[in-house]
Amino acid sequence: MSEILDIAIIGGGITGASVAYFLQGQRSVALLEQESSLGYHATGRSAAEFTRRFHSTVVGHLTQASADFVMDPPTGFSDVDLLRSRGNLLIADSDKADHLREVYDRERANAPEGARPVALLSVEEALEKVPFLDPEWVKAAFYDPDCWDVEVENLLQGYTRGAKANGVTVRQSAAVLSARRESDHWILETSSGELRARTVVNAAGAWADPVAALFGANPLRIVPHRRTAISVKVPGYDLSEMPEVNEIDEAFYFKPDAGQLMISPADETPVDPHDAWPEELDVAYAAHYLSECSTLEVNHIAHSWAGLRTFAEDRLPVIGYSGQVPGFFWLAGVGGYGIQTSPAVGQIAAALLTGTDMPTNVTKAGVDPALFSPSRYES
Ligand SMILES: Cc1cc2nc3c(=O)[nH]c(=O)nc-3n(C[C@H](O)[C@H](O)[C@H](O)COP(=O)(O)OP(=O)(O)OC[C@H]3O[C@@H](n4cnc5c(N)ncnc54)[C@H](O)[C@@H]3O)c2cc1C
Repeated sequence: MSEILDIAIIGGGITGASVAYFLQGQRSVALLEQESSLGYHATGRSAAEFTRRFHSTVVGHLTQASADFVMDPPTGFSDVDLLRSRGNLLIADSDKADHLREVYDRERANAPEGARPVALLSVEEALEKVPFLDPEWVKAAFYDPDCWDVEVENLLQGYTRGAKANGVTVRQSAAVLSARRESDHWILETSSGELRARTVVNAAGAWADPVAALFGANPLRIVPHRRTAISVKVPGYDLSEMPEVNEIDEAFYFKPDAGQLMISPADETPVDPHDAWPEELDVAYAAHYLSECSTLEVNHIAHSWAGLRTFAEDRLPVIGYSGQVPGFFWLAGVGGYGIQTSPAVGQIAAALLTGTDMPTNVTKAGVDPALFSPSRYES
């Protein structure tokens, strides 16, 4: 009989990789990814933003708990800084100018701990930051200096390298196809052979519900939502120091990305789990929004893509042991913030899996892991 591992993690995105890392060699672990490369799905398609503002309070706390790790990772974790200062310019047209000022007042009053203050800008000041904004469209703006680009690939590699150094086996092209229970452990049939593990961690992203079904667990209605992005060239402008720009209600956003401009229409279309691709209409919306608020003409789209942001109904992560099925642990529903919260999410999952205390950065940030229990959806 093959070795029985303590833990098999299903899903080699940022979530699976982070818990593999934070288990810190305390258990024998395999990380299983169905694709030939890690981070192929949502993780490889994000906007790579880190911000403590403009999320729900709980997600703000999770991000706060993650900040120290990404700002000052352990020695050897990454060759490059994981965060690069970007800043975020919030803009509104004449219809929403008053609303923007209300959001600004709220953000000033509720600044996250340690955050630099937001600043109300005149239209001229907004144009100094982003010269191609159209003053006919932009009627109000404020600036949030506390927004960063995340080096997603380095973060993913850092987790994976650290996990491997602690003995985790990483298996790519290993789709979990079926599972059966034998005494105190699971036997997983994968596309690259059989594997035995006492506990299975479901970090399968958009596939969280179908993977749960393989183990006889009821779906928790964790639903993937498609989000589209395009990138365009913007000749004549140096984008390197330009901030990210968000419409005040996130009707759209754009930001510099590898020398080009990435634009998303911030779509959220519920779909079945799949290898997501962009729909023509959403691509057209992205180009339309940019044309509308700027003086740029979008004649050519260099690249377009889509990814799945996967949410439970309350838009909070689902982290914890199943109350229905033995040896089955949920780690899913990290939606549109799975990169920036991955340190705290990985730490919470590792603490629950090993029965150890929550790390102080998690408790200090005011995170209550009980909120994430799958029991809230298990009936
Ligand atoms: C356009 C877009 C913009 C975003 N912007 C941001 C942002 O700025 N900041 C931020 O923090 N987050 C952002 N996100 C969200 C972020 O990308 C996700 O929250 C995060 O990547 C989810 O990671 P994951 O590991 O849970 O899922 P995934 O990366 O999808 O990983 C799950 C993995 O499980 C594997 N899997 C599934 N079923 C099986 C099986 N049966 N066997 C083996 N493997 C399996 C899949 O192949 C997949 O690789 C964005 C997402 C999108 C789409």
